[in-house]
Amino acid sequence: MIAKLISNTQLTSRTKSEGSRIARKHLGSFAKESAKTKHTVRIYDTTLRDGNQAVGVNFSVEDKVKIARRLSDFGVDYIEAGWPNPANSSESEVFTRLRKERLQSKIAAFGMTRKADLSCQKDENLNALRTSNADCIAIVGKAWLLHVERVLETTAGQNLKMISDSIAYLKDYGYHVIFDAEHFFDGFKDNPEFAIKTVSAAAQAGAEEIVLCDTRGKSMPNEVYKITAFVKKKINKPLGIHAHNDRGLATANSLFAVMGGAEHVQGTINGIGERCGNADLVEVISNLGLNLEVETELDLSKLTRLSDYVYEIANLNRNHYQPFVGKYAFSHKGGIHGHAVSKFPETYEHADPSLFGNTRSIVVSSQTGLANILSKAKEFGLHLEGNPAKAAEIIPRIKDLEASGYNLENAEATLNLVYARSLGESLEYFDLIGWKAQVSNDPNGATCESIVKVKVDGEPLIIAAEGNGPVNAFDIALKKALENQYPELASVKLVGYRVRETDAEKGTAAAVRVFIEFEANGERWSTVGVSTNILKASEEALLDGYVYFLYKKSNRR
Ligand SMILES: [Zn+2]
Repeated sequence: MIAKLISNTQLTSRTKSEGSRIARKHLGSFAKESAKTKHTVRIYDTTLRDGNQAVGVNFSVEDKVKIARRLSDFGVDYIEAGWPNPANSSESEVFTRLRKERLQSKIAAFGMTRKADLSCQKDENLNALRTSNADCIAIVGKAWLLHVERVLETTAGQNLKMISDSIAYLKDYGYHVIFDAEHFFDGFKDNPEFAIKTVSAAAQAGAEEIVLCDTRGKSMPNEVYKITAFVKKKINKPLGIHAHNDRGLATANSLFAVMGGAEHVQGTINGIGERCGNADLVEVISNLGLNLEVETELDLSKLTRLSDYVYEIANLNRNHYQPFVGKYAFSHKGGIHGHAVSKFPETYEHADPSLFGNTRSIVVSSQTGLANILSKAKEFGLHLEGNPAKAAEIIPRIKDLEASGYNLENAEATLNLVYARSLGESLEYFDLIGWKAQVSNDPNGATCESIVKVKVDGEPLIIAAEGNGPVNAFDIALKKALENQYPELASVKLVGYRVRETDAEKGTAAAVRVFIEFEANGERWSTVGVSTNILKASEEALLDGYVYFLYKKSNRR
């Protein structure tokens, strides 16, 4: 995808020119330079290669194919799918699989320049790249003399030859070659002449794009800006940036590189990667559009779902506070905020959440005001606008619950039921008469049994079940009892169970808060229960989860 810099049509010409005049006066040369940056930006995603190097992330071949489909659908220019090498056949298999997918994005294979003592023809890693089935090759070479001498244990001259030989070799086979100048910024600060020689060698050997890497994430944005602008004057090839986040500057450094003239940005979705990760493409892409006025053909409205998807496949917890795509990125909790946002969103929002596929939410908590209550009711599909007295009744109810330890911000389903009950909606789907759980421990291990007495449609039922803990046994027995009348409950899965103390000072007599997360047919909801008895708190949260499902289901009919 080619991204073009265009003027921001969302602003009127008068406010825009006035705004930029004032902004430039205060921002100085960076703003002036960035306004001149009329070039294209290509997005190079390395979630499947650098992202896979994050501790705790291990994508299978299947995972990589699934993520690649989403990235291509989102519209990135390049997908770096891995490092084909003879030691790991699954890395090569990914490329064979992706070849069959007919993706829009170009597939890049990553690898190193030839070894110092081998010819290209004899270098197995280089030949794995040559036979990789990729559309293009990103070849990494050293741009810092320290690495050349101490790690590769070779000479500056030999290193330059390794770069040009490897690129020329791959060019002979018709590949589009991207040169990743590893540690470029550190190398430049150490010995600018040598660093420039490495990228010149790559350019002369035929590399189509030269990527300057801040491999240790040690550079400052102003350095990245100046060095990129300097290299741009020396090298007649498009430049790129590959920034790591070791000092929390990867996004800033990527943007400053673009201001300095880079036309290609590498990063990963959610910033996953080696050590502290890579530049987060979620942030970079959004800022390119919002702050540098780069209009891309990327479908930004898919960003939130893409971010969620990558967390899911990587088996990582979502970051609810993540800019642009986090669940709370556009959540307003303070009463004053909620009131202002419902009148005029710009008061507390830097951009429209729907641009990124995210949604605004007015959080209802003990700090809540009437405006938040009304807006939340609307989200739940309940109409309270014409009944402010009823809405006002909900405030003390929520404050009481929160004072006794309920945290309703994270338990929207329980909150929805509080609203529904306050409005007198009937939620009598079943009547739990009582339940018992017995835990016995013998030499063969612990066993748990539960007996549940429940009345469904006037019919009393007693059901027993075993589980791997008292809550699990109760849940299985309750579901069995209810499924006679409500077979659709079979699709409901319990996907999260967390217990927290609400008042740590009281020790074991303290109340506990149980959060339960449910899922059915791709939808998720969470509930909360509080009691000094963990089983009672769990019962409350479980019942809310099933009642909420049945309530939503009956409302849809
Ligand atoms: Zn990297």
